[in-house]
Amino acid sequence: MSSQGYTFKAEIKQLLDILIHSLYKERDIFLRELISNASDALTRLQFEMLTNNEVVDPDAELAITLEIKKPEEGEDGDHWLIIRDSGIGMTAAEMQTNLGTIAQSGAKEFIQTIKEKDNKNEINDMIGQFGVGFYSVFMVAEEVRVNSCSYKPAEEAASWISSGGDSYEIQSAEKSTRGTEIHIKLRDDAKEFADGWKLRQVIKKHSDFVAYPIYLDDDQINQKESLWRKQSSKVDEEAYNNFYQQLTLDFEQPQGVVHFASDAPVNIRALLYIPAKREKSMFHKRTEPGVMLYSRNVLIQEYCQDLLPKWLQFVDGVVDSEDLSLNVSRETVQNTRLMRQLGKTVRKRIVREISKLLKDDDKLEAFWHEFGRYLKEGLAVAAEDREEIMPLLRFYSSKSDGKYISLDAYLERKKEDQSEIYYVLGDDPRSVANSPHLDPFKSRDIEVLYLVDPFDAFMAPSLEKYKEHDFRSIDDTQLELPEEVKEEQDGEEAQAEEKISDEAMNVLIERVEAVLGERITEARPSKVLELSPMRLVSPEDSQMNSAMTRVYRYVGQDYEIPAKIIELNPKHHLIANLSHLVTEQPDAPAIDLTIEQLYESGLVQEGLHPNPAEMLPRIQQLLELATKSGE
Ligand code: ADP
Repeated sequence: MSSQGYTFKAEIKQLLDILIHSLYKERDIFLRELISNASDALTRLQFEMLTNNEVVDPDAELAITLEIKKPEEGEDGDHWLIIRDSGIGMTAAEMQTNLGTIAQSGAKEFIQTIKEKDNKNEINDMIGQFGVGFYSVFMVAEEVRVNSCSYKPAEEAASWISSGGDSYEIQSAEKSTRGTEIHIKLRDDAKEFADGWKLRQVIKKHSDFVAYPIYLDDDQINQKESLWRKQSSKVDEEAYNNFYQQLTLDFEQPQGVVHFASDAPVNIRALLYIPAKREKSMFHKRTEPGVMLYSRNVLIQEYCQDLLPKWLQFVDGVVDSEDLSLNVSRETVQNTRLMRQLGKTVRKRIVREISKLLKDDDKLEAFWHEFGRYLKEGLAVAAEDREEIMPLLRFYSSKSDGKYISLDAYLERKKEDQSEIYYVLGDDPRSVANSPHLDPFKSRDIEVLYLVDPFDAFMAPSLEKYKEHDFRSIDDTQLELPEEVKEEQDGEEAQAEEKISDEAMNVLIERVEAVLGERITEARPSKVLELSPMRLVSPEDSQMNSAMTRVYRYVGQDYEIPAKIIELNPKHHLIANLSHLVTEQPDAPAIDLTIEQLYESGLVQEGLHPNPAEMLPRIQQLLELATKSGE
């Protein structure tokens, strides 16, 4: 094959231009990128060899080697850095596609982002986090020559050569050993990378945990033993955090680390992380959920989602088991007995770690805020896991003082004769605290859980029972609460002074039903309300309970406001006044306006009002009536 010239695609020219002409503070990340490519190439070869022995150099060690070439002290000459791997290699055609276009999303995003920025410093800070891949070599290179020999026996070796700029060349090459060599002629201002000490320092920082040995002058300069195979007592927090960072490129420290080893019933070494955030940043290296599955340091599956249930898929890390056969293809790893055993072991440890986080108030907040939803969803879709999930659930409550409590804490302090766990659905703790449904619970001093997260409505039907106690929504009209033990109040809060006659109440009820018509199924006096004038409750035979309606509202689906029962509190001044007015001055304009407003306030309380702002004109009319003097 003779030499052939090609021009780079426009976006690469653009990228190269930025890389060559700017001075990046963090340009040592080029080494991380090239080593990460080498490591990927080795892993791909390893996969290939699980099923195919027909490769070039089947016995070659899987390793990365760095070599420095520079003139003697005091002499002039070029400085070269060479990075070799015995990985999968590339054919000439592969070089043309892989190194001539930008496949990589990190580089694309980088270009997109810097187009919108003209501040050089900002770009400097970003490049290290984006990881623009192979091309980052041009931050330090005057010229780059990639020699590669594919693992496929029939292919010929080839070179890819470029000095940045617009173009590159592809030629045939003399290389008979499998893998890729990157020869970097260092720029004058980048000669420090022809220094062993510097290379060691950069590798330590960015690539210490690469799974293959990295050699420099016959010395292995990265960690010899993978971190997860070390004893946990020999690993400190910094090493855990570094490994996590190199694994994920997530720069926030993880919330929790689980590192354990066991030999029975299955052999397992695992190092797992609970990340800080559920949202992955765009720099995040691990693009899919799942843990990395190894057998004896050989990567079997990069994103294994079969080990952990969906509600724990936020966990990142490595699981290594010598019992997994290396010959197994990735597809057949799934669903074996061994996988189930591994899964069970790993999951038990993670649940234990989560319980630990939940014992610490600050950690609880952070964890629950990010990952509570996963557990709630788990409860809703994986009923078989409820025994594990229920004790991890946390709620605000009418007595929790703005803190989260567990179901166990709730049961511990429940009333002696209380057999059910009460909850109310709402939009946020503050508005739910004023829910009229709470009246009978306040007066009886019974604690009520606040389900105020949008996911709670979705989860509520699955709560069912905890330790023999049924869950009950407090807007359930069939609740039977123990008789209230009335302490003699000094009459100050006694709303009940003005008892309305049954007859007057009936007149009011007729009027309410006439005004609200189809929107309600019934109006009736309430037996439970104390401090609130009214509430809306679902009819016993209603198809759509309040949890369902909320789910519809949250997913933005159109819903009809279900017809409700309106319950009026005869002990409340407002209802008493209204009833007088209906009996004595049935034409008073305030009556119908008040009834409408009471109903819509009820909708707001239930989180069902499609557009509360629509109430404003009516509220103004009522205010006008209230402020009219002398009538
Ligand atoms: P990325 O590695 O994110 O895909 P790069 O720009 O770093 O992006 O590399 C582009 C492609 O070039 C890789 O996907 C891979 O196919 C190929 N490549 C790069 N380095 C090597 C290597 N050392 N051995 C084999 N293939 C490589």
